[in-house]
Amino acid sequence: MKDNILYIVIPCYNEEDVLEETSKRLKVKMNKLVENKIISNKSKVLFVNDGSKDKTWKLIESIEKKEKYFTGISLSRNRGHQNALLAGLLTAKEKADVIISMDADLQDDIDAIDKMLEKYNDGADIVYGVRNSRKKDTLFKKTTAQGFYKIMKLFGVDIVYNHADYRLTTKKVLDELEKYNEVNLFLRGIFPLIGFKSEIVYYERGERFAGESKYPLKKMIHFAWDGITSFTIKPLHFIFSIGIIIFIVSILIMIYSLVRKVTGNTVSGWTFLSISIWFIASLQMISIGIIGEYIGKIYMEVKHRPRYCIEKNLEEREEK
Ligand code: UDP
Ligand code: MG
Repeated sequence: MKDNILYIVIPCYNEEDVLEETSKRLKVKMNKLVENKIISNKSKVLFVNDGSKDKTWKLIESIEKKEKYFTGISLSRNRGHQNALLAGLLTAKEKADVIISMDADLQDDIDAIDKMLEKYNDGADIVYGVRNSRKKDTLFKKTTAQGFYKIMKLFGVDIVYNHADYRLTTKKVLDELEKYNEVNLFLRGIFPLIGFKSEIVYYERGERFAGESKYPLKKMIHFAWDGITSFTIKPLHFIFSIGIIIFIVSILIMIYSLVRKVTGNTVSGWTFLSISIWFIASLQMISIGIIGEYIGKIYMEVKHRPRYCIEKNLEEREEK
């Protein structure tokens, strides 16, 4: 057990206010885990500087110099949370057996790490950190965040409710993740797609202890939209369904218009116009819907996602 190298990946964007405290607390945690022989002493905390404009990178450099269990990488510019996280995960997996990702502000309770490692030792390949309440979140954050999960469900994106990016994965899982070449990456959606034995650990989510949220409403909406459009083509199916609905309406309108014409209840030309407008509209919608179906197929093709992942192969069993 003590041979397991753990890397904790932490994306940081303008986090100068929190880094010192974060590293202090993580240092205690790392020391304890190594002392108790739960992880190898080659384990590290990997900070990913996501093109910060403040002193974040300077701080990371100085922490790395002073501390044994800390290291860092820096991106050339700000690429957003998900990309920074991916960069960290793929860098860490080259050195580590097991990787945990978390936020710089320690809103994720670091004591959940022990529980995650326990589940890992029991054979889990992915352990999702799930917050069991949002008591500490502002009402605004609570409603928008919960709305986010509901909308994702509605559109058929399989994500773990109330799970952000606090999770443990093994190297094996990240090797699979690397095969997903898509540019618009929505990690929360991809991990459930990869599969493997997964577990959940519940934790209390705290307040950001310093600095501001780097996720203002605009970024959150963008994030949600990214999640939907990079995971499902349901919005395209909607167009086709609307086309069919309008077509049915157009038939009703036709019957209605003809009845009015027969009963002599119209001005001249009205019947022709009203039938044409509805009929053409439905034709257009259906046509766009058909094109949409093909675009949806092309979209799924260009993503080039792996079609399967073999977890165990008896042929490759070690010689007895
Ligand atoms: N973050 C990042 N790049 C960005 C925005 C955020 O690396 O462009 C990091 C940030 O430093 C933090 C994590 O993503 O470690 C989550 O951000 P934050 O805590 O502000 O989000 P919230 O908890 O408010 O949803
Ligand atoms: Mg936060």
